[in-house]
Amino acid sequence: MKIVKIAVHQVDLPLKEGRYTWADGKFVEVLDSTLVAVTTDDGRTGWGEVCPLGPFYLPAYGPGARAGIGELGPQLIGLDPRDLGRVNAVMDQALLGHPYVKSSLDMACWDLLGQAAGLPLVTLLGGRDGAAVDLYRAIGQEAPEAMAAKVAGYRAEGYSKFQLKVGGAVEEDIARIRACRSVLDAGELLMADANTGWQQHEAQRVVRAVRDLDVYIEQPCPSYEACLAIRRNCDHPFILDEVIDGLPALLRAQRDLAMDAINLKISKVGGLTKARQIRDLCASLGIAMNLEDSWGGDVTTAAIAHLAHSTPVNFRLAATDFNSYVTVSTAAGAPQRKQGRMAASQAPGLGVTPRPAGSDWAAALRDRLAQITGLPLPIGCLRPGLSLLLACVHTIYCLKNLSGFLYFAQRLCCRAAVL
Ligand SMILES: [Mg+2]
Repeated sequence: MKIVKIAVHQVDLPLKEGRYTWADGKFVEVLDSTLVAVTTDDGRTGWGEVCPLGPFYLPAYGPGARAGIGELGPQLIGLDPRDLGRVNAVMDQALLGHPYVKSSLDMACWDLLGQAAGLPLVTLLGGRDGAAVDLYRAIGQEAPEAMAAKVAGYRAEGYSKFQLKVGGAVEEDIARIRACRSVLDAGELLMADANTGWQQHEAQRVVRAVRDLDVYIEQPCPSYEACLAIRRNCDHPFILDEVIDGLPALLRAQRDLAMDAINLKISKVGGLTKARQIRDLCASLGIAMNLEDSWGGDVTTAAIAHLAHSTPVNFRLAATDFNSYVTVSTAAGAPQRKQGRMAASQAPGLGVTPRPAGSDWAAALRDRLAQITGLPLPIGCLRPGLSLLLACVHTIYCLKNLSGFLYFAQRLCCRAAVL
């Protein structure tokens, strides 16, 4: 199996809530995501996605991802995508740093490995642990009462874990944490994520003021040293995120006992290959994890589900269903949240069939019908006209439950569409 072609697609992902705001007044309204399709000489295509949270969250930005893939792509032509160590070595040799660029290519190669093996990634990454994965809901920075109302709303949808965006003015952040904790029960998890937004003295004031509350403190300050100082001066469970960008940072922090948990973002560390290394080491060292990415749509969410679902349950705090935050669906087969949880696909590879244009309304209709009825449809191989016909046949079949003629007609349409 050899890589013969790499294609890149840009996709805009508007946020359902309109805007997502975090520390220092930073916000995004439409995410700039990149889907990459890696095709092999046996006709398979593997998919990956990278979606920075704007150009000012991590050292990453949308056009940079596409430029980097353009730089790296030619180096991968001719390689066997199943040789993930080799693929990563070639990428690291060809381009220093830029882990987010490499992440989407690595993800697509994992998808191909799973397809070739006939196994879902969750199996290849260690095996499914439990029926589903708990999700956290990120609550963008607003007034304390508005954030508490959103926590209550998402709680009613089944979430039991919440990540508040703080990192603003000290008194207001204290009010945010208090308001949101007050609408939660004892067993429900609250994480106050400052996203590096506090100076050390500010973080010190906040953690002292909420000492009586059950709340995790996440990445209070920009530097590792300032975070470590806060960690040593508070007794809240402590999460590091932005400063844990790879194995060396993790090893240093573990040696210093600088955290109880990390946020493991796939693209922050360079892809699933490196995320798995860090994930396994954290599990061996007893460090819990939120398993996620910087952002993304259906493909990223599928990758998160596989990584999280194969992480020992004792070490996973939560994962994130990023595809539920955005208005555009870019793939069929992606995990869908049920009562604050999601599960990895049983299908080989990532288990998704992307539609990078995001504008095929007939395909979207098919997806919705398949979701409602629970019956699989051969999405992705159909032309738009035939797909509409198939959707109609499928609907009649499901409503009437006629097992003979209509099912035959549906299969006939499928065949015709593939031809
Ligand atoms: Mg964070």
